[in-house]
Amino acid sequence: MPQVHRLEEYNPVLKDVSLIVGDGLCSNIYVIGSKNITLIDTGVGNRMNPIFPQLEELGFKPEDIKQVVLTHAHHDHAMGAFMILDRISPKILVHEADTKYIATSFGDALVKIKEGDVIETAIGSFNVYLTPGHTPGCICLHDVDSKILISGDTVFPDGYYGRYDGESGSLTEMIDSLSRLKELDCEVMLPGHGSPVFADANSHVLKSYEQASRPR
Ligand SMILES: [Zn+2]
Repeated sequence: MPQVHRLEEYNPVLKDVSLIVGDGLCSNIYVIGSKNITLIDTGVGNRMNPIFPQLEELGFKPEDIKQVVLTHAHHDHAMGAFMILDRISPKILVHEADTKYIATSFGDALVKIKEGDVIETAIGSFNVYLTPGHTPGCICLHDVDSKILISGDTVFPDGYYGRYDGESGSLTEMIDSLSRLKELDCEVMLPGHGSPVFADANSHVLKSYEQASRPR
């Protein structure tokens, strides 16, 4: 079964942020807020990763979800959105460059977002950065005040970064995206897979940039 973690104990800026760690090939799901929840990614949406039991374990009801942000539209992040739309009708925010495939089936729930948009959440206002490389519509979210970076499949801890060898990936774009992200002030990083970083996230972003741009 997926595991649920309240992240506040690791860094107080993460008050009202929880992490649902998926089972198998499944993205992390971040739950931000309590009554007006912003969900970051939705997992793979299979029977092993049902979302609602985990939300219940955290004390939340389905109706508490106000909006869902997908860091990109790969199935291990996005298919859970259908499970959610079966029960409730939150908006599903996806970068316009990633709305060709899965997202076409979100119907009226789909809201296309772009670089420079601001997403209001219970813990702060997150700026949208378009960070292609893994997919054309990969986004990262950054809140200047809390210094939280939601890094999707673009930056992972310890110098890792998203795969760029897929059909829609590009190493050149990945290096460019990481180069932009390393200019942000990041203390905490919430990646799409693996463990969050609770301090000095800047050094992790820099390391990923250096790894990606090393001569091959
Ligand atoms: Zn992906």
